[in-house]
Amino acid sequence: MVKAVVGANWGDEGKGKITDMLADQADVVIRFQGGANAGHTIKNKYGKFALHTMPSGVFHQNTMNIIGNGVAFDIPKFMKELKDITDNGVPMPKIMISDRVQVMMPYHVLFDTLEEARLAGKSFGSTKSGIAPFYSDKFAKIGWQLNEFYQDDDVLKEKIARIAEIKDALLVNLYHVEPIDQAGLLNTIHEWREQVKPYIGNVSLYLDKALKEGKTVLLEGQLGTMKDPDHGIYPMVTSSSPLAAYGAIGAGIPPYEIKQIVTVSKAYSSAVGAGAFTSELFGDEAEELRRRGGDGGEYGATTGRPRRVGWYDCVASKYGCRLQGTTDVAFTVLDVLGYLDEIKVCVGYEIDGEVTTEFPVTYLLEKAKPVYETLPGWKCSIDGIRKYEDLPENCRKYVEFIEEHIGYPITMVSNGPAREDIIYRKSKLSKTV
Ligand code: GDP
Repeated sequence: MVKAVVGANWGDEGKGKITDMLADQADVVIRFQGGANAGHTIKNKYGKFALHTMPSGVFHQNTMNIIGNGVAFDIPKFMKELKDITDNGVPMPKIMISDRVQVMMPYHVLFDTLEEARLAGKSFGSTKSGIAPFYSDKFAKIGWQLNEFYQDDDVLKEKIARIAEIKDALLVNLYHVEPIDQAGLLNTIHEWREQVKPYIGNVSLYLDKALKEGKTVLLEGQLGTMKDPDHGIYPMVTSSSPLAAYGAIGAGIPPYEIKQIVTVSKAYSSAVGAGAFTSELFGDEAEELRRRGGDGGEYGATTGRPRRVGWYDCVASKYGCRLQGTTDVAFTVLDVLGYLDEIKVCVGYEIDGEVTTEFPVTYLLEKAKPVYETLPGWKCSIDGIRKYEDLPENCRKYVEFIEEHIGYPITMVSNGPAREDIIYRKSKLSKTV
């Protein structure tokens, strides 16, 4: 069967930890979209790792870790990460890279950086990892599928020249920098294709066999619903779909194989980059939550920039879960809220004087004011608790209040960064219970 682990919100919900935990029972873990722009933080017996390109199953020796065709594959970052984990004592993982994955080229990163600088204050908050230029080229049909790298030099040179013609017009005339070094690019391709050669495979064929053999496959999403290019807060979105449904395309499997969709949602909100964030907190309150948040504060895994933080948003999360097709909600980082006397929860948006619980399109979202309900805090640590009944009453009430407002079953509660910090819970909303 195929399970997906995806985000309900703006990313950074704790998907890495949940994937790492579920990878225990998975034969295959696969990244199906996105690139090195986002990161998962995983804490386990080998240490604490920020994974940007590697699937989260790399710490499990029997798991096959796959880079699916939907990914923006950054070869230098991938090689560095592989070295970092093995240098830190993690045994060499099993890896397969799709022969159809497209490669992040050096000029994609360059264009991302140049465009962010040109837009200055009006930028989209890109991590400058080349993601938007990469996906633009993919759909403009001037991208590079990894298999193309293994063609003869004549073919490679011809394609490089064809691409340089377009790119140079912008580099020279718009950005006023040097044109593409075509010979250098050919050398890069030569170098990169040798580095990844041992790992290339026909992923969709491999998965077809794996599913026929009854193996468990885990699709690992990046970011969350709010960053989806269609259903998110366009244009402050990413360039590939973080929805579970896209896992079918980004991995090459039939959509009906995806049986379980675990949507991860954090017990408070956080977001990086620009864009509407209705329940955002500011000032001292924000600073304290940011400092206490996650594992060691809410700071970006890729960029280190402080994340914006806020109260839990039921309107965004209900929508986020719906678009993912959620079968289970994993409610994470609940332990962090133990310091609060009272906790606010956003239960509606007021837009032009009317209150709604349905997530609006972006221009209306920008006008939305949060409608809060205030719940009492539990004022104690919940670290180490393994049974739902052992959580303080106010803590359970918080979970149940949110479950009722989002309308999807919270079947896992995470109360710490480690794999073991998990509480399974029966929900009356579960279809399987
Ligand atoms: P991801 O991109 O969705 O995987 O999320 P991040 O890795 O950016 O952020 C999650 C952070 O919270 C990481 O530092 C995790 O180790 C940490 N984390 C995950 N679950 C929990 C939890 O239940 N409690 C605490 N305190 N930290 C958690």
